[in-house]
Amino acid sequence: MQTFITVLTVKNRISDIRKKNVSIGFVPTMGALHEGHISLIMESVENNDYTICSIFVNPTQFNNKEDLHKYPRTKEKDIKMLKEAGTDILFYPDVKEIYPSNFDNSFELDLEGIDKLWEGEFRPGHFKGVVQVVKRLLEIVEPDNLYMGQKDFQQFTIINMMLRKINSRVKLIIVPTMREDDGLAMSSRNMRLNPEFRKKSVVLFKALHFAKENLYTMPVNMIESDAVKMIQDADLQPEYFKLVNADDLVAIDKIKDKKIVALVAAWAGDVRLIDNMILN
Ligand code: AMP
Repeated sequence: MQTFITVLTVKNRISDIRKKNVSIGFVPTMGALHEGHISLIMESVENNDYTICSIFVNPTQFNNKEDLHKYPRTKEKDIKMLKEAGTDILFYPDVKEIYPSNFDNSFELDLEGIDKLWEGEFRPGHFKGVVQVVKRLLEIVEPDNLYMGQKDFQQFTIINMMLRKINSRVKLIIVPTMREDDGLAMSSRNMRLNPEFRKKSVVLFKALHFAKENLYTMPVNMIESDAVKMIQDADLQPEYFKLVNADDLVAIDKIKDKKIVALVAAWAGDVRLIDNMILN
């Protein structure tokens, strides 16, 4: 695996590779890698000639300075995991590489309100930062295939919309959520959970399952309120638990023929967790 820390050097290497008419898969991450990230890498390795991973803790998508500051950084372990998974190139830039002083900050995209829902409501400006960094990284890497996790379902939906709106030729592939044995969705943030909250956090998976099991037997608002209560009873603080249309993430009040996803966010002590499940 080759590691590059500057835009210029990684672009040079990629343009060399491109001369050979190959396919390039790209997996953007913020590091603190776990098996969920590695499942994206493996999907890319299997389906592309070259796999590029980026590790960049993007400050513009953190609405909370403390969260940015506390975000785990495990560089040596990340590098080892990426090598073992067959990554060809690691792009590991610092903030000045991604946002140089002459960086054109004016790009704005109408995300049709999806960016204001759910995560957008509780983390104002978050998706503007996500769109900004993914667009910048795509301009540097110019991959054929982009791999993102279902774990961040709203992020996937928004990046899908962005690619459509900018007429990108990049193909976005969604990879299912990897979970711990008890069902907790793998997340870089899990390492900040103390043992007590680590155990309690499985309630998010249980509440999502509860929604799936009762989709056709209970009214939507009852499913949501019971799920919220389950989460509260387990000592977590839910921010939202919502059944939404998978396409536009708009809340539903009745089950129709469309694909439905349950989205949840909750605090386990001082760690904010999100999860989701496709229900039908
Ligand atoms: P992050 O480093 O949290 O920005 O995540 C980088 C990518 O890995 C995103 O596309 C995430 O959706 C994906 N990802 C994170 N956790 C998981 C997981 N448990 N299973 C599958 N993909 C994941």
